[in-house]
Amino acid sequence: MTHQIIQFAATIIVSLTILFPSLKMAKHAFLKLLNATIEEESMMDVINILGRYFEHYCEFSDLRARSAGRKIFVEVRLVLPEQMPLAHRHVIAVNMEKDIAQNVPGVEVTIKTAPCRRNCEYVKRNEPCP
Ligand SMILES: [Zn+2]
Repeated sequence: MTHQIIQFAATIIVSLTILFPSLKMAKHAFLKLLNATIEEESMMDVINILGRYFEHYCEFSDLRARSAGRKIFVEVRLVLPEQMPLAHRHVIAVNMEKDIAQNVPGVEVTIKTAPCRRNCEYVKRNEPCP
């Protein structure tokens, strides 16, 4: 339940920080307010990077994080446009994993990709997938 709230909050924060870069500072205060765990804070950092690639994918879902020792393992399912070739999907996932590995210390992320089933947020708004 808490993770769903965090994911929802994170989605809003990511949208807002894309529109208003100065709001990035608000993130930390917001997380403190939510009493976020270290896993949730890592998820937020991961989401921030996912946000940089927003023009490449339809949406992401099933974000989870667990910690083992000092490492935090984050998993996310990335929905990519159906017409995108498999090799291209793979390249995007690998690039994002690398970006996260370089920018979020202690976090190991696994990105699973899936083709869009024409039910993403874009389609719901009657827009084409990116
Ligand atoms: Zn889509």
